[in-house]
Amino acid sequence: MSYLYRRNGIYKSGQFKGQRCTQRHSFKKKVEQYARPKKCSSCGNEITYMDKWQMKKNKENVCLCAAYIFPHRAGSGVWCVESKNEPTEDDYKARYG
Ligand SMILES: [Zn+2]
Ligand SMILES: [Zn+2]
Repeated sequence: MSYLYRRNGIYKSGQFKGQRCTQRHSFKKKVEQYARPKKCSSCGNEITYMDKWQMKKNKENVCLCAAYIFPHRAGSGVWCVESKNEPTEDDYKARYG
């Protein structure tokens, strides 16, 4: 389970520096649970906006096929049974060496 964050909530408060950022972030814990505030690597602003909608979508879309040892998003990798893409030569190399 990972927590997804999207852009920043503070742009509404007028504290937002620079352009509104759409960078997506994923963390193991909620940002509040980290000792230091998480900053966006792209715009440098503090990350505060949790992407609940996307997290819910991901949950619904979870796939447990045998292609990966961990639960994954349906079609998130070429080896997943839900994937629409065929594995390429490079994918075979990466998987089987
Ligand atoms: Zn940003
Ligand atoms: Zn799968």
